[in-house]
Amino acid sequence: MKVYFDNASTTPLLPEVKARMHKIVDSHYGNPSSIHAFGRQSKILVEDARSVIAQGLGASLGEIFFTSGATEANNMALFCAVRDLGVTDLISSPTEHHCILHMLDYLQEQNLAKVHYLKVDSTGNIDYAQLESLCSQLQDKAMVSLMHANNEIGTLHDIYRIGEICLKTKSLFHCDTAQTIAKIPLKVFPGLNFLSGSAHKFFGPKGVGFIYINDDNIIKPYFHGGNQERGMRSGTENIYGIQGMAKAFELALTEIEERKTKVEEIVSYFLKQCLSTFKDVKLNSGDSERLYNILSLSFPGSDRSEMMMMNLDIAGICASAGSACTSGVENVSHVLEAIGHDPTRKTVRFSFSHLNTKDEVDYVVEKLKSITPVHATS
Ligand code: PLP
Repeated sequence: MKVYFDNASTTPLLPEVKARMHKIVDSHYGNPSSIHAFGRQSKILVEDARSVIAQGLGASLGEIFFTSGATEANNMALFCAVRDLGVTDLISSPTEHHCILHMLDYLQEQNLAKVHYLKVDSTGNIDYAQLESLCSQLQDKAMVSLMHANNEIGTLHDIYRIGEICLKTKSLFHCDTAQTIAKIPLKVFPGLNFLSGSAHKFFGPKGVGFIYINDDNIIKPYFHGGNQERGMRSGTENIYGIQGMAKAFELALTEIEERKTKVEEIVSYFLKQCLSTFKDVKLNSGDSERLYNILSLSFPGSDRSEMMMMNLDIAGICASAGSACTSGVENVSHVLEAIGHDPTRKTVRFSFSHLNTKDEVDYVVEKLKSITPVHATS
């Protein structure tokens, strides 16, 4: 049996998304910038997709720009805010995705901005009072960059509260919503200036995403070239990816509650089984509000748990040790480090989708029995 419990890392393409992309691959190859008929047809595809994303987010068409994914969107928001909007101070958390943390390092190293990290508790929650006091104290222009849900442990930030703090203190707010967009209903709101999303997290294709840039924030281009995306993001548009993303987004919004209910049922079934079967299992997000499809479980350390990921893989189970790593090497997770996770224990992130089943859960629990200690009664 093959079980895919790694949906926070990426998701498969849904048949409807594949069908849309195949259709366009077969019928369209015009460059959207060309003024002839083939070009105009491709342009229409890009603009139709923009309207799907904008409508879903409650944004205007001019506020949505297509990118290669959330990494580019996040890099763009941070870099351009510093370069073009007079931002001198960036406030973030040590549990953000590396595409945020490494850009923050870069901006600080180049003396382009000062970076302030909020403290996080043992479940990955920030201290909102600290955020407000920091935003109020800073004399210069600040931007807060905080993700909606943490990709490793699932902890949710209260983005509406962060938006209010930003409004009150006249700080900008950028939110990486790669894990939550199309999973949690979300409209842009006052206090939010930038938002990033990525299609492959919601059953769309890889290598395509978008950024929402609130109309009030006029930034200059991040990529320079042929002036596509109204000059903001040069490069011939990925019409297949953009259309695939729009289809996946549309489907996800239509089925958002249905999918959530299904995933919640499976996740609670899995969690209950784990807690009743295995000794000393802990949920890394603790009692915090958590994105419903991510379960980061910490198991007691042992020789067998050291080989946990390998044994799961051998059993045909795809899960993750933390975040997906580019090199294929398991590094100590910066998120687990930031929340003070005991390094002698072993964490596995199981992340689910509406395509998973209870039979898969039973299979995984059965396999885990030979990997981690069970209660005497199990
Ligand atoms: N931000 C978060 C929270 C993520 O989970 C990911 C993907 O792992 C990214 C950003 C990067 O997204 P992309 O793969 O589209 O560049």
